[in-house]
Amino acid sequence: AEVTYVRRATKLNTVKFYFTSAQPKQILKYHGIDKDEKGVYVEIATTRPEMLPVCQIVAVHPSDERSPWLVDQVLRVPLFNKEVKIVEDETVDPSFGTGVVMICTVGDKEDLNWVFKYKLPLEMCIDEEGRMTAVCGKYRGMMIEEARKAVIEDLRRDNFLVKQESLKQNVGVCWRCKTPVEFINAEQWFLKTIPFKKKVLEASNRMRWYPGFMKIRLEDWVKSLEWDWVISRQRYFATPIPLWECMDCNHVVVARVEDCYVDPTVDPPPVEKCPKCGGKLRGCEDVFDTWMDSSISPLYNTFWCRDKERFKKLYPMSLRPQAHDIIRTWAFYTILRCTLLTDKEPFENIMMGGFILSEDGTPMHASLGNVIDPLEVIDEFGTDAFRCYAASCALGEDNPFRRKDVIRGTRLLRKLWNVERFIAQFLPDHVPGQPTSLRTMDRWILSRYSRVVQRCTEYMDRFEFSLALKEVEYFLWHEFADHYIEMAKPFVYEKKNVESILYTLYTIGLGLTKMFAPFFPHITEEIYHRDYKGKVKTESIHSTSWPTVEIIDEDAEQIGEYIKKIIAGIRKWKSEQGLALNTPLQKVEIFTKKLSLIEQGREDIVVTMNIKDLVVNSRFSEIKEEVVDVKPVYAVMGKKYKEKTTEVVEMIKQLDPKKLYTPVKEQGMLALSDNVVLTQDDVSFDVSYSLHGKKVDVIAVDDTIITVFKGEG
Ligand SMILES: [Zn+2]
Ligand SMILES: [Zn+2]
Repeated sequence: AEVTYVRRATKLNTVKFYFTSAQPKQILKYHGIDKDEKGVYVEIATTRPEMLPVCQIVAVHPSDERSPWLVDQVLRVPLFNKEVKIVEDETVDPSFGTGVVMICTVGDKEDLNWVFKYKLPLEMCIDEEGRMTAVCGKYRGMMIEEARKAVIEDLRRDNFLVKQESLKQNVGVCWRCKTPVEFINAEQWFLKTIPFKKKVLEASNRMRWYPGFMKIRLEDWVKSLEWDWVISRQRYFATPIPLWECMDCNHVVVARVEDCYVDPTVDPPPVEKCPKCGGKLRGCEDVFDTWMDSSISPLYNTFWCRDKERFKKLYPMSLRPQAHDIIRTWAFYTILRCTLLTDKEPFENIMMGGFILSEDGTPMHASLGNVIDPLEVIDEFGTDAFRCYAASCALGEDNPFRRKDVIRGTRLLRKLWNVERFIAQFLPDHVPGQPTSLRTMDRWILSRYSRVVQRCTEYMDRFEFSLALKEVEYFLWHEFADHYIEMAKPFVYEKKNVESILYTLYTIGLGLTKMFAPFFPHITEEIYHRDYKGKVKTESIHSTSWPTVEIIDEDAEQIGEYIKKIIAGIRKWKSEQGLALNTPLQKVEIFTKKLSLIEQGREDIVVTMNIKDLVVNSRFSEIKEEVVDVKPVYAVMGKKYKEKTTEVVEMIKQLDPKKLYTPVKEQGMLALSDNVVLTQDDVSFDVSYSLHGKKVDVIAVDDTIITVFKGEG
């Protein structure tokens, strides 16, 4: 945007406009109408008194009680002795100032509507340099602020000023230097836009918008348009408008297509004299609005008018990626011009990115000192890690810069690198063939992986990068690396049943590299060249095909998830005992109702956890539990028993924990005395377990119990 609006403090000046004719006495009873020795006057408030010389009309709302008295009367503009008529109009804001307003040419956009509606003269009081024009009399040549001060001083001196109040107002300013923007009257070139509103809306409907609601922004904009597009600018640098005008009759001579690109201020016109009157031709000094060029980027890029075959193949383009701040400009003008020139919408898909804000969520501005230099972030963390943050921003949303997502990126890249390096050391020189039968656990992870491929593909198709990345990232960390790789390690180290596992590692290893490639193009290319290119033969990861679904096997997934939990349970126990993960376990018994599920993953449990003797059965009753001790939970008891807590604790200590256990656990409570009732939350029991007369540790995984003999390892 070239004009932005800022809230500024200004002064609201209430000024006397005297009637030119005599007034009845009754009129004085109304507010904002009064009289002094010079006559009867209406009070009118304005923030722009320097525009009094171009006051064209005064207006009041039709429902204003003064309206019948005022309409069609004539007032004299103070200081300038100009006579203006009073009209009634629905658009007057009765709450502004005294409810009677003056319309000047041209203070703001609304004033222009008044100009057209009441056919007011387009008399301007400010010139291109921001100075007051000749209509301003003695103020001519002054800068705007200077003139405002002088006019207010004169109003005060001549007793025209009733009062002055402070006011906050939205002012249109230059977005770059914050200078207030004024309207001037200048001849411009227009491109017809209003007649094509429907065409643009139809073209927009044929395109897919991401996110979908962004389309509404374009529609609202198109529907609100009242003027054609001003395509000329008075600037030094831009594309020249290729035409000449007759200095006598204003006839326009346009450059010949074959002569373009031309600069009419330098290049001669295609004809020597005006074809109409023989007058002298003068080159147009205006240049095009920058969007005139950028609005045909799809045409330029698809070789429109330069290569028919290519154009046919490439147009409409598949995607326009852009930010939401230029929907009204780049998107709108592109759709308008390309559709008018080709009768076809310029893109199939249009995708709206958001803004990157500073870390505290405010927009970055050099003047605020909150600008984050991407090159510095890249120097510190690398490009791919930086892209991890960028990819985690949801489409169409403005996002504060999040350093933690860059750091998350570095960890993710390291994980990917390590996982791939682990896989690579076992891979053969060629693409591993698919074995005739895949092991259940390999089917499990391939099925999980295939679902990730499905979801990731769906998200990518909808340009929901952040969700796609989340899917692949979660799978890499929490399914593939945490579980499958850990299970696979002992197999590949000992070369056991390795064919099925290598096929699985290769397929998922390459597939993950491909799915990460759009996010992390550098590290994935590096991994590809090191580990896969020799087998795949395609030049670059970025020209390989997107991964596809391998297998979807719900049975294998059910078994795999169960086995995964059991192995994770034993692993957790080992690490709690301070044992290495490959420490051999003499005997482990698993009590479960899902005997057949375990059998299909038995090999994985045994090999991964290095178990010498694994027994699986459903005779839960073989596990004997014995209550060894009971301990008060002070946090709970303290609140409940207050100063009596010590007394209650003593009572508990006197009792046999075994006798407490059954009633408290099974009935949930036990009355110790008339006013002390022990509940489950008050105490915790230490229970020891034994199996076949030997003490065991018990690991509970959902409704499965795993027992390991104490002192194992
Ligand atoms: Zn500026
Ligand atoms: Zn002429």
